[in-house]
Amino acid sequence: MKKKTLIIGAGGVGNVVAFKCAMNSDTFGDITLASRTVNKCDAIAKNIKDKIGIQITTMTVDADSIPELIDTIQNSGADIVINVALPYQDLTIMDACAKCRVDYLDTANYEHPDNAKFEYKEQWERDELFKNKNIMGLLGSGFDPGVTNIFCAYAQKHYFDEIHNIDILDCNDGDHGYPFATNFNPEINLREVSAKGRYWEEGKWIETEPMSIKQVWDYPEIGAKDSYLLYHEEMESLVKHIKGLKRIRFFMTFGDSYLTHMKCLQNVGMLGIKEIEHKGMKIVPMEFLSTLLPDPASLGKRTKGKTNIGIFAKGLKDGKERTIYIYQVSDHQECYAEVMSQGVSYTTGVPAMIGAKLMLEGKWQGKGVFNVEEFDPDPFMEELNRQGLPWNIMELDANETRQID
Ligand code: NDP
Repeated sequence: MKKKTLIIGAGGVGNVVAFKCAMNSDTFGDITLASRTVNKCDAIAKNIKDKIGIQITTMTVDADSIPELIDTIQNSGADIVINVALPYQDLTIMDACAKCRVDYLDTANYEHPDNAKFEYKEQWERDELFKNKNIMGLLGSGFDPGVTNIFCAYAQKHYFDEIHNIDILDCNDGDHGYPFATNFNPEINLREVSAKGRYWEEGKWIETEPMSIKQVWDYPEIGAKDSYLLYHEEMESLVKHIKGLKRIRFFMTFGDSYLTHMKCLQNVGMLGIKEIEHKGMKIVPMEFLSTLLPDPASLGKRTKGKTNIGIFAKGLKDGKERTIYIYQVSDHQECYAEVMSQGVSYTTGVPAMIGAKLMLEGKWQGKGVFNVEEFDPDPFMEELNRQGLPWNIMELDANETRQID
């Protein structure tokens, strides 16, 4: 029987997911895109119709409301819900999926609006509920989290008996021409990068001041870039699922202009997430800033350059030390030419579509709540090559590194 797919969220990532599901309509069947602002869904639907001739349905939904979500899921007849709204909506959408007994997928872990924590706890706690309802929830099926987890699982399956050290390396060398803008939702992006850094070593989390650890890494097709240690959510699940792990860290590149703006905004209190009183009104500084910044979905046409995201892994194979680097390079303008989005939305939306495709095709099956690295990475890696995110593996000498400072 023809499948039915519901996508929630019509931002930069929602646009890519809708396009890529439509391009794979043999699997996704009838596609509905629902979001808070239906005009954004309609604009995406029109672009998909004009560019690839597929008609998708659009609906309004407030994804903070479980009753509204239940109506939307039932009206769409969905077999799967792909959540690419904001992390604040993860729990309501999961609970609505459980009520409707429909599979669930997202790309970012739950975030409480008043507390920047980025942790899986409350989503993992729904494992029993999902098992009881006989449904599957797939968490973090974007690029990072998502493809980076898959790269680790692939390395574990094919290259190592034990992986000791992993560095996840995220480089965006795109230039959108604005002095300051974020490539995905500004609130989530700024919360992530202004939080304390954290990495995991010998079974413990070690906290660092924001942006206090800088290294220079050499990224293929881009070159040497300043890369800063951040906490990133995929590490929480990878420390559970990768055998023999002794240390895992995450580095992201930032340009000087971005860092100077961020420091200045932080110093004046514009990154605050608690309500303040302004002329008799309650406002959240970070939300106000988000309103002023360019919409990430509008950056597509003007962003030039490449992204390179990957993992650098060291460990043992057959008793010998081994070092590999798995990475994926995307070109912002090529992404725009294909689906009218810049590379950050593209590299998130394509893996969300792939995760959902493997679920609908029954290649990834399970009852309960899972992270992507718990499944066989091979079909996902094959789909990455087929669906626009070809990857590379570089085998290095045991002690060779691409860190140059
Ligand atoms: P955007 O801000 O561009 O889009 C978010 C969309 O969600 C908007 O259309 C917004 O509606 C909609 N939305 C927000 N609140 C609600 C609500 N209550 N009900 C219904 N719809 C709502 O974000 P992005 O597209 O950049 O990011 C989407 C998701 O992808 C985020 O969760 C982000 O963290 C994640 N992400 C994951 C990455 C990864 O690699 N794993 C990388 C980048 C992003 P409106 O248009 O009305 O504002």
